[in-house]
Amino acid sequence: MDQAFDVIVIGGGAAGMMSAGTASKRGKKVLLLEKNSGLGKKLRITGGGRCNITNHTLNTRELLKKYGQAEQFLFSTFAAYDVAATLDFFQALGLSTKTEAEGRVFPASERAEDVAHTLEKFLKQTGVTVKTNVTVRKILTENGVVTGIRTSEGILTAGSYILATGGTSRPDTGSTGDGYTWLQEIGHHVTTPTPSLVPIEVTEKWVAGVAGVSIQDTHITIYQNDIPFRKAIGKVLFTHTGLSGPGILNMSQDIGDSLAHGPVEIKINTLPSQNEEAILEFLRQLHTKHANKMIKNILADLVPTGLVLPILNQAGIEAERLVNSITRQERHLLISSIRGLTLHVRKLLGPEKAIIASGGVSLKEIDFKTMRSLIYSNLFIIGDLLDINRPSGGYSLQLCWTTGHVAGTNC
Ligand SMILES: Cc1cc2nc3c(=O)[nH]c(=O)nc-3n(C[C@H](O)[C@H](O)[C@H](O)COP(=O)(O)OP(=O)(O)OC[C@H]3O[C@@H](n4cnc5c(N)ncnc54)[C@H](O)[C@@H]3O)c2cc1C
Repeated sequence: MDQAFDVIVIGGGAAGMMSAGTASKRGKKVLLLEKNSGLGKKLRITGGGRCNITNHTLNTRELLKKYGQAEQFLFSTFAAYDVAATLDFFQALGLSTKTEAEGRVFPASERAEDVAHTLEKFLKQTGVTVKTNVTVRKILTENGVVTGIRTSEGILTAGSYILATGGTSRPDTGSTGDGYTWLQEIGHHVTTPTPSLVPIEVTEKWVAGVAGVSIQDTHITIYQNDIPFRKAIGKVLFTHTGLSGPGILNMSQDIGDSLAHGPVEIKINTLPSQNEEAILEFLRQLHTKHANKMIKNILADLVPTGLVLPILNQAGIEAERLVNSITRQERHLLISSIRGLTLHVRKLLGPEKAIIASGGVSLKEIDFKTMRSLIYSNLFIIGDLLDINRPSGGYSLQLCWTTGHVAGTNC
């Protein structure tokens, strides 16, 4: 690589691609380095392959509440590039979007691939030089500036460096935490990342039979010692070993913390579309309409088939009992079980399954107007490397678009 570059971006994920294209559009000569053979490997698996690009919260103050303690740092960054700007960006590049429940924005095609292609198009249009299969090994510094980077292709230099190597979740996508190591080596403070939005493994083996089944907008309650300590409404997705989906992911950190103090149970309403009274009325009517049918067959019309036996087991009712033999007391047990199917948490899955890892570089060491390091004047740090916690819902990628754009504008 004999060309001279103004900016080197390390990491070709969402944040790196956004920053590289933005800088190049300003006339900077930009080199984007990626160790994988292609760009955006993680981006392509986001949102279950559909990519929840952002959250349609156009009021920035409202949006920033989702970033917890980082809110105070992010005002100037989002004032420069907000959700509306992000939607305009994708629209201008020809990517149509649609908004679903809880403001989640997806590509209209429902293909995460299309989001990655759109960013690749942006890099091409703006003239970024992209080098894949290049691994960065070390950041070289002297007297408060970065002087170069050691890579698998030798030492490379530029005027500015944008660090966008991601966190530690799903290391198979390339996010192996290299950036954290380098930042610590050169004197930045990094909180050790731990899996944050992460699926749950449960002891119930029957979940394997309902893997892929999801329940939208349902009540989820977490119990310890029979005391409910956290309630939420959200989507639950059954997996081969347990539970996932935004509703569960957003509670995973609390679940993990509580597990340290003893067993944790999760109760899920398997029929959120009906209130208690409506289900009771339905069950009462069965006595006259379907007296000689088996309860398991009737229940299959109400809840996903794979949940019928677990629900009946929990209620202590044999699956083959005839409807007219179910007592009033059993009807009430059945309703409790339908509205509070209980699962026992075995553990949280590890970083290899996490959506994000909490932890990262201390926010006090970044100028959020520019995303510049306060220790190294020509170093910019963006995306998942930052110590910012956020829920599921498009907030992680929005952070990448915003911090990427701001770094690309100021490098
Ligand atoms: C399964 C899953 C689903 C998700 N779904 C969503 C969603 O729908 N919506 C949402 O908002 N967020 C979602 N997220 C989170 C979101 O994907 C991340 O917040 C985002 O991708 C982070 O982007 P990034 O650019 O900071 O880092 P990354 O995407 O991790 O990119 C970093 C890049 O740097 C490269 N790199 C690392 N080290 C080196 C090195 N030494 N040399 C060269 N290159 C290097 C890596 O190979 C990688 O390509 C999801 C995450 C996962 C795991």
